[in-house]
Amino acid sequence: NLTTRLGTVLDSIRGQGRLTEDQINAATRELRMALLEADVALPVVKEFIERIKVRAIGVEITQSLTPGQQFLRVVQQELTQTLGGVAEPINLRAQPPAVILMAGLQGAGKTTTTGKLALFLKEREKKTVIVVSADVYRPAAIEQLRIVAGNVGVEWFPSEVGQNPIAIAEAALAHARKTYADVLIVDTAGRTTVNEDMMKEITALHGALNPVETLFVVDSMTGQDAAKTAKAFADVLPLTGVVLTKVDGDSRGGAALSVRQVTGKPIKFMGMGEKSDKLEIFHPDRIATRILGQGDMLSLIEETTRKVDQEKALKFAEKLKKNKTFDLEDFREQMAQVQNMGSMEAILDKLPGGAQMKAQVAKANPEKQIKRSVAIINSMTKQERKYPDLIKASRKRRIAAGAGVEVQAVNQLMRQFETTRDMMKKMAGGGMMKMMRSLAG
Ligand code: GDP
Ligand code: MG
Repeated sequence: NLTTRLGTVLDSIRGQGRLTEDQINAATRELRMALLEADVALPVVKEFIERIKVRAIGVEITQSLTPGQQFLRVVQQELTQTLGGVAEPINLRAQPPAVILMAGLQGAGKTTTTGKLALFLKEREKKTVIVVSADVYRPAAIEQLRIVAGNVGVEWFPSEVGQNPIAIAEAALAHARKTYADVLIVDTAGRTTVNEDMMKEITALHGALNPVETLFVVDSMTGQDAAKTAKAFADVLPLTGVVLTKVDGDSRGGAALSVRQVTGKPIKFMGMGEKSDKLEIFHPDRIATRILGQGDMLSLIEETTRKVDQEKALKFAEKLKKNKTFDLEDFREQMAQVQNMGSMEAILDKLPGGAQMKAQVAKANPEKQIKRSVAIINSMTKQERKYPDLIKASRKRRIAAGAGVEVQAVNQLMRQFETTRDMMKKMAGGGMMKMMRSLAG
């Protein structure tokens, strides 16, 4: 899946401030594959990728997210935005009866959705709903709606094969007015493919009904074709929204992105099963996640985003601690670190002209010196290490005796320490300024 693939492409590279162009190109290649696998239409993929590229350039890599996660976060956000950002509710703001016209190919799920929507409006919005079928070509289609209406307990306005669809719609509308119904849902006849008859018919129905909602119903399993169908309907009808059906199947939801991009209309509902209660309000973020195929990834990203702030605070505290007055214990630690770096000779071996220097250094014997310095600090009291200014002549004699060295050696160590402390102070000052700036930014 995309998460794993992006991980391979991006996560090996760390410690850079921003994603490089090469990284973005590699990542968008993976994204393109993932979108195509999710059945997003090719032109839609291309357009989306271009937008992602522009956005990814400005993205900073934080400590808590790997570059792969960071990129995915941008994609997730952009995808959610493209899908409409937030759920858009059905619009019933019209002089009652509010008419809803269902459009779409045969088998898309218009009749099923008509029943689902009737139930939704009846239960959630407490509306009185009438449904009518203008599908005069198939007797089974009219019967199907009658049964669905009975199941969900809304009025079914009768119609018959052979009647004029416009006449049916007008009669149903008149009836709905007379009975003060809140909503009239008009189910229509689709065709197996886009054709002129269907478009003429649906356009005429739209003209006769003046619907407040014209919903394009589309099967999410149709993948690449969804974009073409959506374009054909959007070209002749002023669509107000989309219903994406069969989202319960194993489609990856790419049709959502295609249809949204092509029509520019909000997806308002999704069908999640054949039964009448299987209608859900469309949530762009959830479909975005589904398209990217990374259910667990999203929560992980949310969690890590929260951690970024926490981490910043922790680091600040740590840095403050580090910038406390440099004492003899810090000095000892520093020397221990130098010792850990391996013997000086091994380092010198790797330098040009190292052999000559090696002879000189060997005379000075730095390792022995460090050992001696550590021994001196070890024979100080804890208080002396913390407050080096306490160390006056009498203490120096005691420390020297304890470490088995001359007082002169203690003096020498104290001078080294003071020089280092001054240096640390200056560095800490610079470091602090930098840190403040990065925290402000
Ligand atoms: P229409 O020709 O556009 O009216 O399509 P129908 O409403 O008759 O639906 C066609 C087929 O798709 C039927 O078998 C429905 O049960 C099925 N269907 C519709 N919506 C969904 C859905 O959301 N999920 C599933 N799994 N099947 C659906
Ligand atoms: Mg039907």
